[in-house]
Amino acid sequence: MARTAATSIAPDGRASALALPGSGPAFERASGTRVWDTQGRCHVDLSSCSGAAPLGAGYRPVVDAAVAEMHRAGILPEATSPLREEGARRIVEIFPCAQAVEFFRTGSCATTAAVRLARLHTGARTVLTSGYHGWHDWQLQYRPAMGLADRDPDTADFGYDLDLLERLARRRGDLAAVIVTPEVNVFPDEFAREVERIARAHGGLVIVDEVMTGFRYAWGGYHAAAGLNPDLITLSKGLANGFALSAVAGDAAVMEAARRTHLGNTYQRETTPFAAALATLDASAGGAAVEAMRAAGERLMRGLDGLFDEASVAAWARSWPTMFDVVFADPDLGRQFFAALRESGYPMAYGQRFMPSAALTDDDIAGFLDAAARALPHGGPGGRGDGTEAAVGYAGEHFAATRETVERWWRSGA
Ligand code: PMP
Repeated sequence: MARTAATSIAPDGRASALALPGSGPAFERASGTRVWDTQGRCHVDLSSCSGAAPLGAGYRPVVDAAVAEMHRAGILPEATSPLREEGARRIVEIFPCAQAVEFFRTGSCATTAAVRLARLHTGARTVLTSGYHGWHDWQLQYRPAMGLADRDPDTADFGYDLDLLERLARRRGDLAAVIVTPEVNVFPDEFAREVERIARAHGGLVIVDEVMTGFRYAWGGYHAAAGLNPDLITLSKGLANGFALSAVAGDAAVMEAARRTHLGNTYQRETTPFAAALATLDASAGGAAVEAMRAAGERLMRGLDGLFDEASVAAWARSWPTMFDVVFADPDLGRQFFAALRESGYPMAYGQRFMPSAALTDDDIAGFLDAAARALPHGGPGGRGDGTEAAVGYAGEHFAATRETVERWWRSGA
């Protein structure tokens, strides 16, 4: 029988379906870039399981290490362990700003802990945010879609607007931290450096949320590549290739604040994800995986742009090859293109980011480009133009981005 929905217990005690009708086929197995649905149909994953598994799904050395650890250790969630200590040591080695580390299971827990640490260290309350940091209440002020109308009174989102950041920091006068997610669409490096400068000028700490970029932008993370000196970073995707593990890392003096609070949860120290993480970091060491992802991403982007050129369709593959977007001048055409791709076994939606894994093969890339050529709507608006308007529209639809920032981004990559 086809399974189409996960279930949970609703407040009134009845089981209720979590997956909404129309949210796509239910998948039940994955290996490398391949994903099988409940009808046995094979799809190709071009998003590395939402970025979580850059080495590909079920990467054997990682799974083997995790399974061996389960058999070896049983479960011992309460204490620290040599694996956890070694995981921390590796993070300190890889990330220049990391002097101390604490681990969690999810990205949302890591960003929430980072904000708590910043508040304790500075004694200030205000946190200014840019980009997605997870689903916890403090992160929700620009997320009415998540169903909470109330705002966190001490948190405000400046989007990608540096003047707004400056004004908010000045008006509130008690800045604990600015937390910012490197965003592929609207994020030139100088923007990040300005964020850092403004945060420091107002006495705030700088947190770079590297949940997505930590192991995907460059070895050592986005902040190292962009020349930032954050007080704290958060990590998760790519740390344990799909096993649930996250971390907050940074300046030892700021991390010391952890001793004055409680940052724990029951399963935080269970050793399986640490075994997975060490095997993942062995396989990714020195940036081998990032380089493979970059090479695959460049080929996908070049291939797509070539197809758009040939068909005179106003669409562009843009941004970092390891996490890029496809922008259509006509969003309806974009949605049609992605619907046709889904039919061909590439489960992506318009606006969803391509995040190729290191497991992507030549055949995967060739097969995808064939499918893309077939999916391409011919006789679109004609000519490709410079795409600025499309970029602004796209960013408006998908991110809280200012026009000026998007234009700068688009021009700098043209
Ligand atoms: N920060 C960023 C930048 C993210 O991309 C995400 C998840 N996509 C999170 C935080 C939250 O992580 P999680 O879903 O594991 O709680």
